[in-house]
Amino acid sequence: MLQSKLFPKTQKQAPRDEISANAQLLIRAGFIDKLMAGVYTFLPLGFRVLKKIENIIREEMVGAGGQEILMPALQPKENWDKTGRWETMNDLYRIKDARDKEFALGPTHEEIIFPFLKKTISSYKDLPVYVFQIQNKFRMELRAKSGLLRGREFLMKDFYSFHANENDRDRYYDLMIDIYKRVFARAGVGKETYFTFAPGGTFSKYSDEFQTVTEAGEDVVHICDKCRKAINNEIFREQRKCPQCGKSDFRKEKAIEVGNIFKLKNKFAEDFDLKFKDKDGHEKFVITACYGIGLGRLMGAVVEVNHDDKGIIWPEAVAPFRIHLLLLNNELRIKNKADELYKDLQKAKIEVLYDDRDDVSAGEKFAEADLIGIPYRVVVSEKTAAQNKLEIKKRNEAKARLITKKELLKYV
Ligand code: ATP
Ligand code: MG
Repeated sequence: MLQSKLFPKTQKQAPRDEISANAQLLIRAGFIDKLMAGVYTFLPLGFRVLKKIENIIREEMVGAGGQEILMPALQPKENWDKTGRWETMNDLYRIKDARDKEFALGPTHEEIIFPFLKKTISSYKDLPVYVFQIQNKFRMELRAKSGLLRGREFLMKDFYSFHANENDRDRYYDLMIDIYKRVFARAGVGKETYFTFAPGGTFSKYSDEFQTVTEAGEDVVHICDKCRKAINNEIFREQRKCPQCGKSDFRKEKAIEVGNIFKLKNKFAEDFDLKFKDKDGHEKFVITACYGIGLGRLMGAVVEVNHDDKGIIWPEAVAPFRIHLLLLNNELRIKNKADELYKDLQKAKIEVLYDDRDDVSAGEKFAEADLIGIPYRVVVSEKTAAQNKLEIKKRNEAKARLITKKELLKYV
């Protein structure tokens, strides 16, 4: 991608009404645009990151046997009456059409997936079923001031598993815990993300959260460093010992919940009469679990954890590009070298953003490269051309070094 064609331009100032680092940096660097509190447009750079996160999640969910579907955001009130959540869910967007018919904008999809499965499941032979979607959710978040961490419209991966018995469900749930750990490791927040025990509320006995430690977090967790496990502050009153080692040696940290999984009680299966006939012909409720990840929230968390005072430091797997190629001299002979390198990198299928602009100073190009945060910065200048070399620097390292084009292609 040529930076001369990329829109929009980066901004020197952070927007005044954004206080979180993720929103400030992502807006300044041109990844997202704010439409209103908690609602953002993903611009070309941001869209690339979001798609990388989406692909990691999709790969892992398909690897777990999940089949991808897409459910509607516009949902009939009747389904929400059936579960009682039309009345009880505080953050539900309730809308009315011109004939006074009422709808919900889906904040989650149990109300859709359960009645759908009711149409398709009748026998134990129809189970298990693993389905997921990556789809926009709507929630009336009243304190949407953490940038991508808390949207009012936001992309979520929601996965639902349906089983004939608890053993099968529990076995699958344990497998999903490992898959979740892999997702967060691949996205670049593995080190900061803790498997966290939390209270469950009405639908489940307890839930397991994946909490990423960051000052921007809205939750408080108590971490057992020995086991790399945490307990959510909400249950810390009752559960003051590590569920794994039994010790009570905790470190208290602020964190954001990037993922949440829980085993459901019979709540939704009862509401929608989701039953199956077992081998002996007995009717039983289907046993279920739900698994969520917020994609935008994860992207925001990646930025919260990976930045410095100059800008974002993208982990390689989710970076918008792998190389940021900077041309620092407009002389044709030198520009030709950079153009040629750009073509060679593209041929080698290496994603590259090429700062080919001829009206921007070297200082500005460096500052923008740091702000945007692409993992490798490669410079073509008069100095490098004279030595028939390139200058390469990793975003998270201080020193640049000279290498040949051949070495670069091999290295990246
Ligand atoms: P929170 O306590 O932070 O409001 P939640 O318990 O309401 O989260 P879930 O209903 O479990 O969240 O949703 C599943 C996942 O969706 C969460 O783990 C999180 O990653 C993401 N998520 C939830 N609410 C938002 C939001 N407002 N903006 C962005 N992502 C969200
Ligand atoms: Mg919530």
